[in-house]
Amino acid sequence: RRETVPVSLGDRSYDIHIGEGLLARAGEVVAPFLKRPLTAIVTDQNVAAAHLATLERALAAKGIRSTAIVMPPGEKTKSYQHLAELCDKLLAAGIERRDRIIAFGGGVIGDLAGFAAAILRRGVDFIQIPTTLLSQVDSSVGGKTGINSPYGKNLIGAFHQPLAVITDIALLDTLPKRELAAGYAEVAKYGLLGDADFFEWLEGAAPAIMRGDSQARIHAIRKSCEAKAQIVAEDEHETGVRALLNLGHTFGHALESATGYSQRLLHGEGVSIGMVQAFRFSERQKLCPPGTADRVARHLKSVGLPIHASQIPGELPPPATLVEIMRQDKKAQGGKLTFILARDIGEAFIARDVNEHDVLNFLTEDL
Ligand code: NAD
Ligand code: ZN
Repeated sequence: RRETVPVSLGDRSYDIHIGEGLLARAGEVVAPFLKRPLTAIVTDQNVAAAHLATLERALAAKGIRSTAIVMPPGEKTKSYQHLAELCDKLLAAGIERRDRIIAFGGGVIGDLAGFAAAILRRGVDFIQIPTTLLSQVDSSVGGKTGINSPYGKNLIGAFHQPLAVITDIALLDTLPKRELAAGYAEVAKYGLLGDADFFEWLEGAAPAIMRGDSQARIHAIRKSCEAKAQIVAEDEHETGVRALLNLGHTFGHALESATGYSQRLLHGEGVSIGMVQAFRFSERQKLCPPGTADRVARHLKSVGLPIHASQIPGELPPPATLVEIMRQDKKAQGGKLTFILARDIGEAFIARDVNEHDVLNFLTEDL
């Protein structure tokens, strides 16, 4: 089975193709977009080892010549140096303005290759083939591309929408379980922020999704892409509802920052802990019915995600330091923090005037 999610953003519309085994037929999707039978594939070493040959064969079957540019895996690859190296390799491969680039990897490769595409020869078009659950449900939707600066994550970048996204759920079979669970946190997020029925469905389907059931995975990814595409389309310039996508991310980012964006805590793990905290805090503020946070925690725990900061290996800074990190996060203003809180499962809202003292008291008791 194959499903298509249409995305319409600004002056561009494109399709996300979701199915099983699509990589082996990627040439069919890619070929119509090419002006000549030549492309460059940007990927990382892990994805290349597991899947590059399949993609190269699929392109060759349509007569497309491809140059593979294989980057080292990991967040450090989203750097000025690797961007420069990648742009030069794309030029060396003979990529011209009319050519298209294929971003073949997780969020790191999608962000880096998408940004390289945005600036190479003042902009070439690209096609995304996301290979992690996180990139299939999150980073491949919305058109944000970029790299990190020593001053912070994702500070250098551009909006650049792909021509098409090819999402093959079979690629997830080689993904480490921990990465799969981390991506799942973002799937659950879409239910928690705005779709109680979807969350309820996930409560039943999570074991099948984690086990690799095709129907369940396709449905979960489609619903997630639709949710993100709708929110982003409503708010392309990030003034309103898009902030809902930050559910769990204010707490989550503080924990990621405190652990130095290391393997101690993957992004989705921080989001998992952050979402539980957001629901606990909402309960504490009498915004949300008692027991809701426990239900959220039970579900995230069932897929192997951490649900409390005490599960992060090693020492954490004291609550006051975490609040300080949140204050420095761009969302803070004058003793007030902006949080995504919830009235219930599926009913998140943007709270722009959360008192820092309340947060500090909460963390002091919760941590
Ligand atoms: P990632 O790209 O680093 O991939 C995680 C790990 O899995 C890497 O080691 C990678 O080599 C490996 N891998 C990828 N696909 C595999 C496969 N099919 N089989 C085996 N191994 C595989 O991490 P990620 O979680 O996909 O993405 C994180 C990045 O995404 C962050 O840099 C984050 O800032 C970015 N992001 C961007 C957006 C956006 O809107 N642009 C949204 C969310 C996150
Ligand atoms: Zn996230």
